[in-house]
Amino acid sequence: MTDPLGIVADPSGLQVSFEFFPPKTEKMEESLWQAVRRLEPMAPRFVSVTYGAGGTTRERTHATVARLRAETSLEPAAHLTCVGATRAEVDEVARQYWAAGVRHIVALRGDPAPGADGAFAPYVPHPGGYAYAADLVAGLKKVADFEISVAAYPEMHPTATNPAADLDNLKRKIDAGATRAITQYFFDPAVYLRFIEKAAKAGISVPIVPGILPVTNFAQVVKFSKACGTAVPPWLAHLFEDLDGDPETRKLVAATVAARQCLALEKAGVKEFHFYTLNRADLVYAICHILGLRPDANEAAAKVGASA
Ligand code: FAD
Repeated sequence: MTDPLGIVADPSGLQVSFEFFPPKTEKMEESLWQAVRRLEPMAPRFVSVTYGAGGTTRERTHATVARLRAETSLEPAAHLTCVGATRAEVDEVARQYWAAGVRHIVALRGDPAPGADGAFAPYVPHPGGYAYAADLVAGLKKVADFEISVAAYPEMHPTATNPAADLDNLKRKIDAGATRAITQYFFDPAVYLRFIEKAAKAGISVPIVPGILPVTNFAQVVKFSKACGTAVPPWLAHLFEDLDGDPETRKLVAATVAARQCLALEKAGVKEFHFYTLNRADLVYAICHILGLRPDANEAAAKVGASA
């Protein structure tokens, strides 16, 4: 196919996963399930559900994961953190997931809940709890033979002393039993590509899946990026300039930026993407479509796979 614009991707072997957060209100619940239903035909490898900062969404995360398991064809992965719980309490949550048929955990250290001023207090391990994600991964593997994904930071975790120490930490999580890393979101594809090269040199051989955040609220992303250590490049600020009061145009720009980012990664050989959906389907659906994913093709492939 001739493509003078360079936007036709090769969808063969492409894999996606989607991240959702547990809804707080009935209205949010409705938009989450609309998003889930819209994205389900894209046949993601898995869908994950976050665990609120400070461990504040334990029940809601569990309920969302259980409903995904019971009512959809999707493979749910539950995020689980070390914050605010003893090892026994975390192990019990994991056992409940296993009993509910959930086989995939995204294991994280987590952050303390933000204070009233929105600022995060420094992390202090819970006495009697798992201190860091590597400890949690090892503990979960003792509970059951979960598939475990962990977090990776192409621009370094904000409290890591240096990039090499951060990679050592990632390696400890893999050595403890994780089989996939999902990255913090980033905007410059070169940052991710350099990171995976360094990871490979450090002996990390599991997939490191890029986390893609379509930017719908630029001001909020700037604030969040400061806290999580993601650089917001000047070209991105330029693209969202003067659009604060124009959500429709922001959406189009956001889809364009994220699709271009994915296409650049795809051209560099990346075949798996994890999307931070923010419980909305429209942008992620469009980006997947641009990447070449088609609901029908996936369903047909699934049928072929099932009858093979
Ligand atoms: P770790 O891998 O434990 O590392 C955190 C820091 O501690 C690093 O700087 C590391 O170098 C340092 N460290 C590790 N071990 C030691 C040690 N023994 N001694 C001293 N320092 C050490 N947060 C949530 O609350 N809920 C979620 O659902 C959630 N989902 C996420 C999903 C993804 C894909 C990503 C990328 C992040 C997510 N987060 C979530 C955010 C995450 O919890 C924070 O970034 C947190 O600050 C670090 O978690 P981690 O699992 O990377 O920690």
